[in-house]
Amino acid sequence: MNAIIKRLAVTVLIAMSSNQVRAEVPIVIAHRGASGYLPEHTLAAKALAHGMGAEYLEQDVVLTRDDHPIVLHDIHLDTVTNVADVFPERRREDGRYYAIDFTLDEVRRLRATERVDSKQRKPVFPNRFPPHTSHFTVPTLGEELELIQGLNKSTGRDVGVYTEIKQPAWHQSEGKDITKIVLAVLDQYGYRESKDLAYVQCFDVKETKRIRQELHCQLRLVQLLGANNWKRVGTDFDRGELAKSMREISAYAQGIGPRMSDVVWGRQADGQVILTSLVEVAHQHGLFVHPYTLRADDLPEYTNSFEELVKLFFVDAKVDGAFTDFPDRVLHVRNRHR
Ligand code: CA
Repeated sequence: MNAIIKRLAVTVLIAMSSNQVRAEVPIVIAHRGASGYLPEHTLAAKALAHGMGAEYLEQDVVLTRDDHPIVLHDIHLDTVTNVADVFPERRREDGRYYAIDFTLDEVRRLRATERVDSKQRKPVFPNRFPPHTSHFTVPTLGEELELIQGLNKSTGRDVGVYTEIKQPAWHQSEGKDITKIVLAVLDQYGYRESKDLAYVQCFDVKETKRIRQELHCQLRLVQLLGANNWKRVGTDFDRGELAKSMREISAYAQGIGPRMSDVVWGRQADGQVILTSLVEVAHQHGLFVHPYTLRADDLPEYTNSFEELVKLFFVDAKVDGAFTDFPDRVLHVRNRHR
């Protein structure tokens, strides 16, 4: 009981001191939709995730040649559509088909599919939805926001959006300001204040700062973290370096999106789980932590069960939410332990 009161008090203190939002119950973010069951980023995958009860649905966004934001994980189209069949001559020298070389009308002629790898054309997750079957398309950001808001109305639920701006520097090098376009669409659909059910996430530190400091976006910002350079000390990161990073991030963002492997390192020989101090230090700086990506069909070696993995992150590591391809199964475990 004391521990619970102490944790609550700390949460309240952090909320009071930094005016930042931390979830009382860790949130479940449907990573590219319910992508464990249906092709990623299709409206079907988003509808299924909504129906399963996910609290937030993720959109990765890139631009078309005519500046329409579309929901697509990569700047390439070839691993998740039949673009090579429909427009065989439109690949670049590297053999890839870039979304930015196609107009929205052209993208609308493509069929979306379960992800295949770019070389062998084999499914990346062999036990998921069969590639190149049924009928799916690549939605625009507006179409997806309309789907979510429509489902919110018809179900009476309030599911939020979790939008990632993909490769802003690359878009810039192609002459496009993707961030301004995405923020304008979010604004058009009513996502503009910190209390709105929307997060904006980006890997690019410079751009995430720009979103806050130059573009004055008021939405909750998440600094995504890829492979990091923090020094390791024994079975943890150097806490001084971590604290410095978290302090810098807390000046412009409300949370971080780290890799799972930066939160849980593995197990000792005696079975004891090794957590890093990332979550603790992030919390000390008022930042929430939403790691990516919990996958039932790609378990880390330190666990044999998805249920145990979810419990490890939500109960032991005390994250504030997580990205998952399997929102139903994460919700099931979370709700049993709350
Ligand atoms: Ca993403």
